[in-house]
Amino acid sequence: MKVIILSKSSYKEKDCIYSAISQEGYVSFMAKGAQDPKSKFVWLNNPLTIADVEFLSDGRYKHKVVNNATLISSPMVGATDYGYLISIGVITEITRNILADEEKHLAFNECEAALNALRAGKDHLMVILIYLAKLIKLSGAELEVDHCIHCGARENIIAFSFEDGGYICENCQSEDTVKDLNAAQLRLIRFIFKVKEYGSPNIEKLTDDDKKKILTKLKEFVDDIVGVRLNSLDALINAK
Ligand SMILES: [Zn+2]
Repeated sequence: MKVIILSKSSYKEKDCIYSAISQEGYVSFMAKGAQDPKSKFVWLNNPLTIADVEFLSDGRYKHKVVNNATLISSPMVGATDYGYLISIGVITEITRNILADEEKHLAFNECEAALNALRAGKDHLMVILIYLAKLIKLSGAELEVDHCIHCGARENIIAFSFEDGGYICENCQSEDTVKDLNAAQLRLIRFIFKVKEYGSPNIEKLTDDDKKKILTKLKEFVDDIVGVRLNSLDALINAK
């Protein structure tokens, strides 16, 4: 069974219990002796490790017990870059917390794709923005990124309201409309919610500060709508 490790906890003297997702669901299992640095399973202990695991078939244990495990990919291989390392922490937090346990496995393919994109050296801010947008969609929160939420216009978009759930055009603005996003930032929101593959948008004058601004907005949105505080994003937003 191919799994992505989300977290581990110690069990008894030397064993570890893991929470993980497979394509089918949320799983937890035990690896005997995995707390021992010399254990053949010690590499399972990094969150976001992807592994093919086989379980013992006998029913002696309360938990599923790993009989054999093969490493498919480790997030720590080749991790020398600060941005990459913070991003691994962010992906771990997002995957663990945004969806309920019984829905977490819906993120399996996206999580693997985001890890591959990071490993391939794609811009880590874009990878996080796109992955976060995908998880927000999977959580069922809806944002209108095609046209004005009031009149349906696609032209003269001047604001995006996370509170009201979408774009606002020039004609529909009111005194309360908050116009704190520039044109590049407004276009970036549509891009991250629409794009299928991990890539960078063709938006003129898009800077890292623009990406961080949208990341900050998404963080607030997840806090308000899903009730989850993504603290690991701060390191990414505050990094120079
Ligand atoms: Zn309008």
